[in-house]
Amino acid sequence: MYKDHLLEEAEGLREKLSDIRRELHKYPELGSEMSRTIAYVKEKLELLGVETRFSEDSGLVGIIRGQKSSPCILLRADMDALPITEETGLEFSSRREGRMHACGHDLHTAWLLGAAELLMHNKNKLEGTVKLAFQPCEEGKGSPGAKEMIAGGILEDPKVDAAVAVHVTPDIPVGKYSISSGGVTTTPCIFEIGIEGKGGHAAEPWKCIDPILVMNRIYTEIQSIQRSLLSPKDKAVISITSVHGGNAFNVIPDRVSMGGTIRTYSRKTAELLAEKIEEIVRYCGEADKAKTEFRYEIPIGSCVNDAHMTGLVKSAVRSCLGEAAIYSEEILFMGGDDFSYFTEAVPSCYFFAGVKKKCRENAFPLHNCRFDPDESCLCKTAAVLARLALDFTSEKKGE
Ligand SMILES: [Zn+2]
Ligand SMILES: [Zn+2]
Repeated sequence: MYKDHLLEEAEGLREKLSDIRRELHKYPELGSEMSRTIAYVKEKLELLGVETRFSEDSGLVGIIRGQKSSPCILLRADMDALPITEETGLEFSSRREGRMHACGHDLHTAWLLGAAELLMHNKNKLEGTVKLAFQPCEEGKGSPGAKEMIAGGILEDPKVDAAVAVHVTPDIPVGKYSISSGGVTTTPCIFEIGIEGKGGHAAEPWKCIDPILVMNRIYTEIQSIQRSLLSPKDKAVISITSVHGGNAFNVIPDRVSMGGTIRTYSRKTAELLAEKIEEIVRYCGEADKAKTEFRYEIPIGSCVNDAHMTGLVKSAVRSCLGEAAIYSEEILFMGGDDFSYFTEAVPSCYFFAGVKKKCRENAFPLHNCRFDPDESCLCKTAAVLARLALDFTSEKKGE
């Protein structure tokens, strides 16, 4: 059977990529505080002979130059972890309390280093340029995220013609890839609700305006939006994820707050839902004479895949792993990713690599303290990314 030589070469890196992933996994870093991870990745790139650029404002970039400067493809890996205490019990578990690579960004970083090594070995076949973007701050706030990396000039010098990123998913078996054109991640909307009542003695609630009661009403009313305003076609989710207030058993507090997120595939739907929540907050507050505040923010858009780039990614997966590696069913990913800034700027493709272990019926989801992906995705994905970069840069325009 025909086998892409890149996959064979990648299989030779199996142990090395697993070691890299486990090292990153042991020492997760959050958001902007990524000095150890950045130094580690930079050193790995330099050992491979990859040219690197680094700045605090725009992150770490590796550049592999082939015969010509263009075309240029950017491959992106996010590197940050989450504020979660790991409970997998694995030998290489996080050594840091309250920090865990529970979104698989350790794998993203490792397979991009794998692709870098494959491309360096095959530099004579590389006709254009490959930029490797190692991004901090994908999860939540902080800098530099994708937006700041673009503002810092990552798409220039040489000019980037296309961008690609892969995210792990425990929803599909390892060895399978979900690749589709159009919108593939959601537009997250973050909201905060403040409720100010009138505190007092817990034994005399009739003398108070109880903000917990108002919060409770708001919470229940928000649940009704899903039934009354959304059709299943809208693919939208609203989750309340934090509530704060009160600190004594005998005091009704003055003030409580809660917050959450809306996930949809369109900014318009997100805005519509945010406005509806605002309305609920206002009338629940007025009904009990409590003061309310509502604030929302839509920090990123959806990742929207270009049809041509999607085709190229599929063909790279087919040539490395065969037709069976393409996962044909639709997957519903309700997460967001700031890679959307890249998809807005250049033709792009954001796709998913299965990491569900064969022996597991129900894998733990992303952002779970027991998330335990199958590492055999590492060399396969490294080969796919290297194949894609070689194919893209040698593609004859106008064909
Ligand atoms: Zn995440
Ligand atoms: Zn992630």
